[in-house]
Amino acid sequence: MEENSIKNILNTAKSEHTLTKPDIVNLLQNGGDALINAADSVRRKYIGDGVYIRALIEFSNYCTRTCYYCGLRAENNRVHRYRMSPEEIAANSYAAIEKGFKTIVLQSGEDCGFSVDEVCRVIERIKKKDVAVTLSLGEKSFEEYSRLKSAGADRYLLRIETANKELYKKYHPKMSFENRLRCLEDLRKLGYEVGTGSLIGLEGQTVEMIAEDVLFFKEIDADMLGIGVFIPHPDTPLGTAAAGDFNLTLRMIAICRLLLPDINIPATTAMETLKPEGRKLALSAGANVVMLNAAENVDYKKEYSIYPDKAGVNERLEESLSALEISLAKIGRKIIMSSGFRYNNRCG
Ligand code: SAM
Repeated sequence: MEENSIKNILNTAKSEHTLTKPDIVNLLQNGGDALINAADSVRRKYIGDGVYIRALIEFSNYCTRTCYYCGLRAENNRVHRYRMSPEEIAANSYAAIEKGFKTIVLQSGEDCGFSVDEVCRVIERIKKKDVAVTLSLGEKSFEEYSRLKSAGADRYLLRIETANKELYKKYHPKMSFENRLRCLEDLRKLGYEVGTGSLIGLEGQTVEMIAEDVLFFKEIDADMLGIGVFIPHPDTPLGTAAAGDFNLTLRMIAICRLLLPDINIPATTAMETLKPEGRKLALSAGANVVMLNAAENVDYKKEYSIYPDKAGVNERLEESLSALEISLAKIGRKIIMSSGFRYNNRCG
């Protein structure tokens, strides 16, 4: 069969928002500026030029998991562990809300020292201010997700990391791929906006596997996609591995935008860490969300070291916000102070 040309593939993607696996592989390997521009035009058509901002509070770096790539893995004794008090989380949230943020993202390692009930009480305090709450706390039971939802949580981020079961098993000792899928299904059943995503650049990950990730996101109709790029952390078993390919990750973001045109896609901190202006490049390749770290104590930002030299750790929230405004203006974009649900996006 004659291979589809990039131009034909992009025309199909722009009009039908579906693609075959071979076409996705072709775009991942060969999609150049035409791919990036196509994704940018679909983003403009469905979402406009606004960029949603979220205040990210990484409230605990304790983690019981041992994911081979992550600096917070339980077996890393070199990381200084911290856990914010509920009062601190609420105070950080309120400070961000006063600056105009309409979404608070609460993220942590899988910390059994912080009970679901405690998180529920924090959510209730934040929800008094009429903002959206996104959680990213890892794997929980249906009943726990249900309690968090009843307390007021609106959205949940849980990356599948890779939709390839074998690769998943390789990097997530003592974890179950089936349970990860079950979590995503439960979150959907409970009425959360569901965010997932993958980590690009793990050794053994092929472009075919990445194409399967895209098809998986399409199949579950993800509401948000965080596409991260792997950055080696020296105190992990992958400390000497090569970092992921920035441009491949950019092409992945662009393909996700083409296939899921109205969803929310953050320009991740990992992109900015791997390449100067990486965030701006992601925003020009289909992304429409930026998460800014809202911890008032800068030490926490440094200690939430999933990978080294994380971008922006020394900045205060107001500094990050004004730097973002300036950099967005250069690409004809602007911050939108909205809770920014998927259903707020235009339908094309
Ligand atoms: N515990 C929650 C969970 O498992 O979803 C949230 C915290 S977890 C640290 C957040 C994300 O960090 C993961 O989904 C993973 O993709 C990313 N991450 C961890 N180590 C990384 C690394 N070395 N490079 C890039 N991203 C990394």
